[in-house]
Amino acid sequence: MEQRKLGRSGLTVSRLCFGTLTMSPAQAGLTAADGGGLLAYASRRGINFWDTAEIYETYPHMRAALRQISRQPVISTKTYAYSRKMAEASLEQARRALDLDVIDIFLLHEQESFLTLDGHREALAYLIGQRDLGRIRAVGVSTHAVGVVRAIAEAAQPQPPRVRPDHPAWQDLDPGIYRETDLIHPLLNLTGIGLLDGTAGDMVQACEDAHAAGIGIYGMKMLGGGHLLQRFDEAAAFALGLSCADAYAVGMQSQDEIDMNIALFDGQPVAPHLLAATQARKRRLVIGDWCRGCGDCVRRCGQQALRLEDGHAVVDSNRCVFCGYCATVCRDFVIKVV
Ligand code: SF4
Ligand code: SF4
Repeated sequence: MEQRKLGRSGLTVSRLCFGTLTMSPAQAGLTAADGGGLLAYASRRGINFWDTAEIYETYPHMRAALRQISRQPVISTKTYAYSRKMAEASLEQARRALDLDVIDIFLLHEQESFLTLDGHREALAYLIGQRDLGRIRAVGVSTHAVGVVRAIAEAAQPQPPRVRPDHPAWQDLDPGIYRETDLIHPLLNLTGIGLLDGTAGDMVQACEDAHAAGIGIYGMKMLGGGHLLQRFDEAAAFALGLSCADAYAVGMQSQDEIDMNIALFDGQPVAPHLLAATQARKRRLVIGDWCRGCGDCVRRCGQQALRLEDGHAVVDSNRCVFCGYCATVCRDFVIKVV
């Protein structure tokens, strides 16, 4: 498995990163033992980069895997914290749940715009301080927004412009602290499906600018949450051909999927039966009939893929990217990505 340096972070990772959202309770709901078994298998096959988030609830799966392997992987996690206190609680939770002294990567989760970045300044400052104390190795953001990648790319330049005529909100954001960002985890795919702003080309340009400034990039949703499965070859060639993408997180739920993705990332032919099985596994958002129509999921969905109809949540499958975020706010466990 090819290894690459993750920007200036000092971390070296396998280009294929194991995304654990798909094994989480909001999606496949694998047990810690089953998910941990898959992570350990992937590790033995050379995948040393694992992605999670506080909200995915897959720390137990990772902890189970860590007990089975001898080589420590690079673990990336994410937090919605915006204050120092919340960031501190997130870091301590990750250290405790994973039984690790040092967390490799801590990202601010799902940054949507300049204003979101600005609102998370205090949490980022805390994480940077912890990085400087050696309790975190790298900090960054995850985002579905071109504007966020652009803002960080510009902040990382030696002399960032204070006013961007094409992005007036930039003048409200002091780039100071964002100069310290090591990594970005952006939505990066062939058609730009799932982006909150801009086009696929805009996102590629922003990622190239950030990467040239020394920021590590590991992409997500190279198959657009399943929407690009019918254009698998094209979508995969696009993603893996991007020199700015040091790695890509891919969700996997079986050893077959791990084997298939390793072949893909290694430039080997993908066994037709494995590809057919992946393409046949069409993902769906299932909304149970006990939905009480509170609307929390509708407000949570950044893709405007949910609406209420007759007091019941309804999904627009053409807009949904199967991120599972709506499931995390439903107190009645009505929603699942399957
Ligand atoms: S959050 Fe749950 S209960 Fe509320 S509308 Fe959405 S699916 Fe229904
Ligand atoms: S409906 Fe749910 S899974 Fe689909 S894009 Fe919106 S938040 Fe994500």
